[in-house]
Amino acid sequence: MAEFSNPFNRRKFLLTAGASAGVVLLKGCLGNPPEGVGGGSSQAQSGTQSTAQMVANSSVSPEQKPETTKANLGYIPIVEAAPLIIAKEKGFFAKYGMTDVNLAKQASWGSMRDNTEIGASGGGVDGGQYQMPMPHLITEGLITKGNVKIPMYLLAQLNTQGNGIAVASKHAGKQIALDLSKGGKGLVDGLKSSKTPFTAAFTFAKVNQDLWIRYWLAAGGIDPDLDVKLIPVPAAQTVANMKTGSMDAFSTGDPWPYRIVKDKIGFLAMLTAEMWKDHPEEYLAMRGDWVDKNPKATKALLKGIMEAQQWLDNFANRKEAAAILSGRNYFNLPFEILAEPYEGKYDMGDGRVIDDKSMAVYYWKDSKGSVSYPYKSHDLWFLTENVRWGFLPKEYIGAKGKELIDKVNKENIWKEAAKELGVPAADIPTSTSRGVETFFDGIKFDPEKPEEYLKSLKIKKVSF
Ligand code: CA
Repeated sequence: MAEFSNPFNRRKFLLTAGASAGVVLLKGCLGNPPEGVGGGSSQAQSGTQSTAQMVANSSVSPEQKPETTKANLGYIPIVEAAPLIIAKEKGFFAKYGMTDVNLAKQASWGSMRDNTEIGASGGGVDGGQYQMPMPHLITEGLITKGNVKIPMYLLAQLNTQGNGIAVASKHAGKQIALDLSKGGKGLVDGLKSSKTPFTAAFTFAKVNQDLWIRYWLAAGGIDPDLDVKLIPVPAAQTVANMKTGSMDAFSTGDPWPYRIVKDKIGFLAMLTAEMWKDHPEEYLAMRGDWVDKNPKATKALLKGIMEAQQWLDNFANRKEAAAILSGRNYFNLPFEILAEPYEGKYDMGDGRVIDDKSMAVYYWKDSKGSVSYPYKSHDLWFLTENVRWGFLPKEYIGAKGKELIDKVNKENIWKEAAKELGVPAADIPTSTSRGVETFFDGIKFDPEKPEEYLKSLKIKKVSF
């Protein structure tokens, strides 16, 4: 990493001291009146920033000095947001000169989309955390108001894994599990016949959570468009909806599925890591106009994120990470709800217990290689899955999709930032493709042949 000169030791000391103070202050905030949405507490922020300011002054070379110290980044309070929060709280953004990063907590993915559209100049955000392929759909004007096309740049993947599907307790013991064809399908078919269809929720249409629940259902022989009712629900409302019985299942990131189990409202049918090991999850993206105007600040943000991702994947730091994230200014949850899944420990709520670090969320490196690097082959899977369900026309698995991916995916900027950070060459992928992907049901996605993947799937809306 960076230079190991004398100032490094001083910086390291300051960082450690600043971060500890931040944690203490966060804990101290419990019981105080809420301070509204947004980043960390003002106390913790000022504590971190004054330290960070000193750090920043001593570590940014003149040629890497960012054009601005400010960025307004939106996030959703789920584990995917951890690299943003840790980069701010541990002073990693400040270390590279981004001393005024504001983290804006979003009430829903719809607000994140809307605030992206408005931009920071209008009170919105410059970028932040996105499900896939939101940046591509926003660029194409397919999910914006009046179909306005807003170019977005994808800069890094935030995490792999860390998601699951929670099911209401009333369905316990009825084989609603990873492989629904073994019995769960019978229950779903029965509910359809009795005109009370199995109702499953996702957080935003056409992106990860919608796609995970659709893949899972279809792999079990259930047509998500004909055999069940799929509805969008903001992550924070999922617990309430499951309690009132208006929802049979939902797909979302930790800590929400885990909270369902702890509150004894339901159980986890599966983890997405069981469906597709090391699957791509959420991403860092920025408005293209912000990146074009601030190329050095973009790399400074990326360096902060990468350092946070490395810090997060050191399991010795995960308890501290859980303490920071669960604080009232971020997720406002009991510490253990985050701490256990962070170690790969999942009480699935139906008697099954997973205790396997390889099932935890990863931020920097997983068993297939780089997590942070945004592989273009994964962009293509998300576009292909959109074609599968009729959200995008067929041409997006061909030239049109390639053109869009090349326009949105800025893996070249990721590589430049990684080199500036001093990431070893072995940790910088040499191909934009992660190669053939394999799902739990034996289905394979070869990014060179997306049409073969679509042909191999029995349940789909598109005809091949
Ligand atoms: Ca997610």
